[in-house]
Amino acid sequence: MPPAARSRVTASVDFDRDGVQHGFLRLFHSSHESAYGFIPIPIVVIRNGAGPTALLISGTHGDEYEGQVALCNLTKALTPARIKGRVIILTALNFPAAMAGRRVSPIDDVNLNRVFPGDPEGTVTRQIAYYIEHELIPRADLVCDLHSGGSSLMYVPSVLTKRVPDEAIFARQLAALQAFGSPHAYIAHSPPGQGADQTMSGGAFRMGVAAIGSELGGGGTVTPEALAIAERGVNNVLVHLGILPETDRIAPAPTRILDVGGHDYFVYASERGLFEPLVKLGAMVRAGQPAARIHFPETPWAPAVELPFVRDGFVLCQRIPGRTERGDCLFHLGTDAAG
Ligand code: CA
Repeated sequence: MPPAARSRVTASVDFDRDGVQHGFLRLFHSSHESAYGFIPIPIVVIRNGAGPTALLISGTHGDEYEGQVALCNLTKALTPARIKGRVIILTALNFPAAMAGRRVSPIDDVNLNRVFPGDPEGTVTRQIAYYIEHELIPRADLVCDLHSGGSSLMYVPSVLTKRVPDEAIFARQLAALQAFGSPHAYIAHSPPGQGADQTMSGGAFRMGVAAIGSELGGGGTVTPEALAIAERGVNNVLVHLGILPETDRIAPAPTRILDVGGHDYFVYASERGLFEPLVKLGAMVRAGQPAARIHFPETPWAPAVELPFVRDGFVLCQRIPGRTERGDCLFHLGTDAAG
């Protein structure tokens, strides 16, 4: 019988030791520039006795910066004396992508959030996914993976969770979502093709662990507003888990909870051209209302192509770059969740 698959990644921290530890996950990668070297994925473990574990992650996509800043600040603010239980922080999970400021790894061109459960013998990004799903997620009571729109999208800053078929896990996810206290939240019903099982939240579900995420803004930058939502949210989730005391709770905003459903929630570019948005983020729109025009500056007398919204909804997300290709997502909507 072949030996059971095992991650080649090693951690320089002891997950069961009290106190603060700063270290690295070592992902050995032999390259032209570094024959015997490793990719140093930074990891922080803060522990004070028995109790719940929060796994806080940013940099799954390297060009999503709000979570990375929030978790850098949190790393300096948390001390063992302040907490009960354990907080594991990974600020730059896909380290090569984070250092390059890119969504995907420059080493293997792989999107970390589309290759779960990963592969211990695969390319570097697949090895990261495998380690997270099999070594870190099982240690956690809650996974919080902080995303944003990245280089190509801008969101109304939101916390989110995935609709999972296990009601007990979904209830824990909803409670954490509400504790986060973002003005906007949404429940992703994962349209076909968007790779739900291949995401980190898919991995958490396979391991029976609750997971929430975020879409904190984007556009390849950080705004004070989105950062404040991220920092309050993570803090309040730690209070919710009982890791931080109730006195640390920051008054949350009332949360408007939306659903994001299938492809009718999305507007995709039908042509290559220059994208003119016709609505703003946060607007309420109606089915049939024009969402965007695509222009052809190389043929200015050619009529622009107008693209409508397919359904009523709240404009949650917009494409940022003006140039667009057929198939790009230009907008997506949310709808107020029932009950
Ligand atoms: Ca993302």
